[in-house]
Amino acid sequence: MEKRFDPWSSNIQNYESAFDEFGLSKFNDNLKLNHYFFERNIIIAHRDFDKVYKKIKEKKPFVQMTGIATSGKLHLGHKIDIDLFVFFSKFKNSKNYFALSDIDAYCSREKIKSMEEAKKYAVNNLAHILALGVPLKAIYAQSKKEPRYYEFIFEISKKITKNMFEAVYGHLDLGKIEASLLQYADILHPQLKEYEGKMPSLTGIGLDQDSHARMTRDLARKFNLELSSFIYFLHQSGLRQGSKMSSSMPETAIYLDDSQQEIKKKIQHAFTGGLTSAEEQRKKGGNPDICKVHEILKFHNPDTKFVKEIYERCRKGNILCGECKQICSDFVSDMLKKHQEKVKKFIPITNKFY
Ligand code: SF4
Repeated sequence: MEKRFDPWSSNIQNYESAFDEFGLSKFNDNLKLNHYFFERNIIIAHRDFDKVYKKIKEKKPFVQMTGIATSGKLHLGHKIDIDLFVFFSKFKNSKNYFALSDIDAYCSREKIKSMEEAKKYAVNNLAHILALGVPLKAIYAQSKKEPRYYEFIFEISKKITKNMFEAVYGHLDLGKIEASLLQYADILHPQLKEYEGKMPSLTGIGLDQDSHARMTRDLARKFNLELSSFIYFLHQSGLRQGSKMSSSMPETAIYLDDSQQEIKKKIQHAFTGGLTSAEEQRKKGGNPDICKVHEILKFHNPDTKFVKEIYERCRKGNILCGECKQICSDFVSDMLKKHQEKVKKFIPITNKFY
């Protein structure tokens, strides 16, 4: 049976072996762009990113596409994907496509019981996505797409056999098949002649989505399109020990609409790399590499000097977890307070979206 990550449930721990097993390329310094995600190795691998990098340097057009399954409230883990999209959307020649994946959410997530519910989350998510800086004209909902997109989904379905799907994903769950067809179409349709035409395209994903990436590239070949490029980012893990930040486990996640009190409480209870006594920690130092508090700063605080400084102080025992949690809590509270103010301004637009 072919080796695979499960895009719906995988929790990848050993990234190094994944590079070798799945043929992903690591980022050379000469492909890195000016964003702290590259600097801090939050973006860890790629497939054919050099094609898009070349277009950026030549100021020539390329497609960038991402999407969010509208199956719940957005949290800090989603913000990474959105921040990355916003970063690439600022390149002058990027052709931007951001899917509110409402049908995908309904088909593939058991907890979403109706399209109406998926659309309700889409409206909520949209306000946050706009507030984070995604241009409105880049955003579409799957359920509102034009007929050519749907025609393309049927064309795609003719190119996939039952055996191919089972080999890549290991199951034939009808809802997940439907969701996958939509995702392939989302990534590939911008290259159709009715949209931008054939050109390099970029999608940022977590390593657990690699099965989708490989299938999409295979389909691109069959439709004589440019093979889609992918960059792989690390998932922010949950606030408790182990597991990724997940909407289905509210105690592991800081939501973008959490109140100041909720943020403070969640960070207070986060797992840290601190030692059992203050005295011991002052003497031996803490371990920021396993600490959820430091991880929040690493993924969201753009001030690299400050993040490094906290890291060093922790290692040397010059800061204790109480003070550090307070610093992190103040930072997140301030960031999300400003964000929530922006969200309010977008509500009138989002309410008219469907
Ligand atoms: Fe984490 Fe800060 Fe404690 Fe170090 S001092 S383990 S970075 S909370």
